[in-house]
Amino acid sequence: MKIGCHLSSSGGYLAMAQTAVSIGANVFQFFTRNPRGGAAKPIDKADVAAFLEYAEANGIGPILAHAPYTLNAAGDNTRVRDFAEMTMTDDLMRLELTPGAMYNFHPGSHVGQGSEKGIELISDMLKRIFDGFGKTPSTTVLLETMSGKGSEVGRNFEELREIIDRTGLPLGVCLDTCHIWDGGYDIVNDLDGVLEEFDRVVGLDRLMAIHTNDSMNVLGAHKDRHEKIGKGKIGLAAFERLVNHPKLKDKPFYLETPCDLQGYKQEIALLKGMQR
Ligand code: FE
Ligand code: FE
Ligand code: ZN
Repeated sequence: MKIGCHLSSSGGYLAMAQTAVSIGANVFQFFTRNPRGGAAKPIDKADVAAFLEYAEANGIGPILAHAPYTLNAAGDNTRVRDFAEMTMTDDLMRLELTPGAMYNFHPGSHVGQGSEKGIELISDMLKRIFDGFGKTPSTTVLLETMSGKGSEVGRNFEELREIIDRTGLPLGVCLDTCHIWDGGYDIVNDLDGVLEEFDRVVGLDRLMAIHTNDSMNVLGAHKDRHEKIGKGKIGLAAFERLVNHPKLKDKPFYLETPCDLQGYKQEIALLKGMQR
């Protein structure tokens, strides 16, 4: 089973991989820079080399880099959109040092321009980034499914499909269990139906990562407040079905629950113990 959690990147790549191993994880997620934006730390090449060796020896990966929350490709002014484009370009360049990584981002918020306009802005940005990259990135870029709070784009599978179609790029999707539940997809009572819908609209071959979070809120609340596994409205039984579902069990699971390391260690053991 591929399972891990979000980790602090403050100690570098090797430290994250060692922390992952210490809590029973074999994948992990991290922010490429401060989640509220700003410059990324310079990359320590020796750390990257040590990480790659350690990851290979310990079967770690794929690693999942998460873009800062402030990145909004669908913003209504050029300053916000230029920041998004510069940041993603820089992140993807840095990720060339760790080939085979994945890069997840929140598609954006259209801030009143309407989701069609948002989808257009996001798609155009992705096309410019890939066109200007000089080669095919070795990183798979993932669109995250969103809960639909505020003016979020990506609040349903159709909006993600539209971005994929408009770009024509080999984008993947990161499915966040809290977000889609909050978005109105009933993974508690009809996981099969939700996955069939995902397959029909997006395609399960594009599903690259699962953000494994319980939710503080009820189905369709459009809130996005993560809860510990089994402590929220999704509940333990649904997660047991989730990690055992034939269409999901081989995908990597990344926890983003409100836990410290000890809590993550327990949740990883819990989910591993559930897999048949
Ligand atoms: Fe996210
Ligand atoms: Fe998430
Ligand atoms: Zn969230």
